Amino acid sequence: MKSTENINPSTKSIQLENQYGAHNYHPLPVVLNKGEGVFVWDVEGKKYYDFLSAYSAVNQGHCHPKIINSLKDQAETLTLTSRAFYNDKLGEYEKFITSFFEFDKVLPMNTGAEAVETAIKLCRKYAYEKKGIAEEQANIIVCENNFHGRTTTIISFSNDEDARKNFGPYTPGFIKIPYDDTDALENAIKNTENVAGFLVEPIQGEAGVYVPQEGYLKKAREICKQNDILFIADEVQTGIARTGKLLAVDHENVKPDILILGKALSGGVYPVSAVLANDHIMEVIKPGQHGSTFGGNPLAAVVAIAALKVVQEEKLAENAEKLGKIFRKELSQFAKNNDLVKFVRGKGLLNAIVINDSEDSSTAWDICIKLRDNGLLAKPTHGNIIRFAPPLVMTETQLNDCISIIKKTFIEF
Ligand SMILES: *Cc1c(COP(=O)(O)O)cnc(C)c1O
Repeated sequence: MKSTENINPSTKSIQLENQYGAHNYHPLPVVLNKGEGVFVWDVEGKKYYDFLSAYSAVNQGHCHPKIINSLKDQAETLTLTSRAFYNDKLGEYEKFITSFFEFDKVLPMNTGAEAVETAIKLCRKYAYEKKGIAEEQANIIVCENNFHGRTTTIISFSNDEDARKNFGPYTPGFIKIPYDDTDALENAIKNTENVAGFLVEPIQGEAGVYVPQEGYLKKAREICKQNDILFIADEVQTGIARTGKLLAVDHENVKPDILILGKALSGGVYPVSAVLANDHIMEVIKPGQHGSTFGGNPLAAVVAIAALKVVQEEKLAENAEKLGKIFRKELSQFAKNNDLVKFVRGKGLLNAIVINDSEDSSTAWDICIKLRDNGLLAKPTHGNIIRFAPPLVMTETQLNDCISIIKKTFIEF
């Protein structure tokens, strides 16, 4: 006991996680205990700009009062009924979210991975019952370097060895093609029987913020339509104003057949995810065929309504668009005279800096440690790439402050 009493609070928390928690993450060494807007504080009281936003779950800023108040009110009233009974909030939420995103129906779930699983099940069932594909034969086309979550089926079509290795046997029925390649999509459709859908991230976030060429999504969407294949957009990370539009597909005026949302759908206060589709697709799922004990609970319903209202009221998409342009302009300019920064890419406030070093070097990690010391939290993704994704409630003054911190850190490094 005595030996742990003198150590600082950060070290103590880290030791506890190390000792008692599974080591399935490798966190940056900082222990947070408070968040407000674009800021988080560590247990020693040091304040940081949050440039990860919990992988874009906290687009509305930490502990947004409107979202937290809706959570508090509902938490004192009714939290969970399961779908064995109706509750008075779910229908209201379903009406709200379907009109917000212009779909006939929503299927509520909790995590992003569950929503992706739901979309896959929906796509397969639609293929068998509406398209006449023979049972067990449906194929879904996915992209190389995708990230759609961590379930057994989803990692079956990942090509990240860490995510996949020794978790087999894998779920069949997926065909992988290069991302940002419509020829590959056309060829895959031509050369494969029984293609039911195409599952794609409008920007590959986890892979390192890969933004496809302009027109990719529109073309891919057209190809799917011509071949009667469902276009499934995983907007768990790119959706809800992150890229400067409500949805990333909006940049190309694309309407998916199935839309997958999660993360910022709750502003980061509660796990809420959703699958949206029109009636001719959603109607293939009937009572007893899919579900979740927590999916569509009244707490999730009121939180998601509040979180979406904040996005609209505070014009977060417009702000992300404006600040993103400033961020990329300033750092692209900076990159020209700094050997460490290869280039900057992204859309809205989903950006990445590619570090001029090999993928297996520790440079990006070491830079993130220095950024932390200078009061800004970011995390490398795939070796030499650092993602920069602050909450969308950031002001221009705050962003300029952050750009100074980032430049200063690179110069000092
Ligand atoms: C984070 C993410 C998921 C998985 O969401 P979880 O809530 O972690 O299960 C799925 N797709 C994309 C694009 C994501 O970024």
